[in-house]
Amino acid sequence: MRSGELLALDRAHVWHPYGPMPGRTDPLVVASAAGVRLRLAEPAEGRDELIDGMSSWWSAIHGYNHPVLNEAARGQLDRMSHVMFGGLTHEPAVRLAAKLVEITPEPLQHVFLSDSGSVAVEVAAKMCLQYWRSVGRPAKQRLLTWRGGYHGDTWTPMSVCDPDGGMHELWSGVLTRQVFVGPPPVEYEESYAEQLREAIGRHADELAAVIVEPVVQGAGGMRFHTPEYLRVLREACDEHGVLLVFDEIATGFGRTGTLFAADAAGVSPDVMCVGKALTGGYLSMAATLCSSEVADGISRGEVPVLAHGPTFMGNPLAAAVACASIDLLLAQDWQHEVKRIEAGLREGLAAAESLPGVREVRVQGAIGVVQLDHDVDMAAATTAAVREGVWLRPFRDLIYTMPPFVTTDEDVARICAAVRAAAAAG
Ligand SMILES: *Cc1c(COP(=O)(O)O)cnc(C)c1O
Repeated sequence: MRSGELLALDRAHVWHPYGPMPGRTDPLVVASAAGVRLRLAEPAEGRDELIDGMSSWWSAIHGYNHPVLNEAARGQLDRMSHVMFGGLTHEPAVRLAAKLVEITPEPLQHVFLSDSGSVAVEVAAKMCLQYWRSVGRPAKQRLLTWRGGYHGDTWTPMSVCDPDGGMHELWSGVLTRQVFVGPPPVEYEESYAEQLREAIGRHADELAAVIVEPVVQGAGGMRFHTPEYLRVLREACDEHGVLLVFDEIATGFGRTGTLFAADAAGVSPDVMCVGKALTGGYLSMAATLCSSEVADGISRGEVPVLAHGPTFMGNPLAAAVACASIDLLLAQDWQHEVKRIEAGLREGLAAAESLPGVREVRVQGAIGVVQLDHDVDMAAATTAAVREGVWLRPFRDLIYTMPPFVTTDEDVARICAAVRAAAAAG
């Protein structure tokens, strides 16, 4: 199909994320991708390929078209791409579950596989509410979180996203009303820790769980905070009988500098969600892990089953690629790669601090953020980045990057130049 024809059909029929129908601007047509480069069907701003500064929304940590992941997918495709998971099981899903249990904090022993991050968060909430119902505390139905978070776009995740200024503000009157505390400060402040303890204590009788993104809040505002607060949450949850859920869908698999952000605090949640980089960006898959206490509680209850079962649960193709992606990550010195990218981002983004309109530059692991003092002019910022040969997707007042871990120093420097250009233009 020629690009013109494809774009006309796209405009007529295809809904894109967070957009109106038809979209305000034409998307770029990607013909193929390899390593960290997206190859465009038609040149844009004189570029026929772009360095991907986004890892396709945190997921493509090993880059595109990776021979090891391709081989895992091909091998599994020849055996079977899918079978139902009710009453059947298979090696890729079992291997993946065992691997996830092995690499996540110790109390997490049981794995519920699903098809997207939002569903993994739905399952986490269902597990927590059902746990309390099963142990005779059905009033414990609400969730507590801090502001500035993002947990996905389906109904329950939306209810714990930041209720102000976020993309789900429209639904504030419709969603379940959860308990919110202020956003976590960057550094440890005893007064904020006290607010957390106080809110958990005050609402303990109605709280099923506290749910947070540990260390890095992603799509809610790209904010970082000290892991110290995770210890405060763990202690307060233990003291008051509240479950603790970590949503590691964005932070998992090394992105923040530790394999999971929970590791930076040495804290184990009762329930944990992973997704995004789980399959190295190849296929849609997510997982919800829980402790034996949670699983046993549910399984001893009046309704002793977790009533959830996505059609594509445990998809063998996705599970096989996820196993290969995790093995690939752990077989290399990924800490070194993330530190190397972190150093490159610090060096390359420092110059953005002095640009007019820039409020703050911050870097954590392989995540670089330039926050402006105004909302980004998306079209101008994106075009400026494309002119530099880089793909970026800013939102709100944020121009940010989380490159694949295989990005070379030279390409990291080019991404930084593009972030600066986008900040200057947007
Ligand atoms: C992206 C994201 C989700 C939602 O995952 P989807 O696969 O897009 O449904 C949930 N939580 C966090 C922290 C995320 O970054």
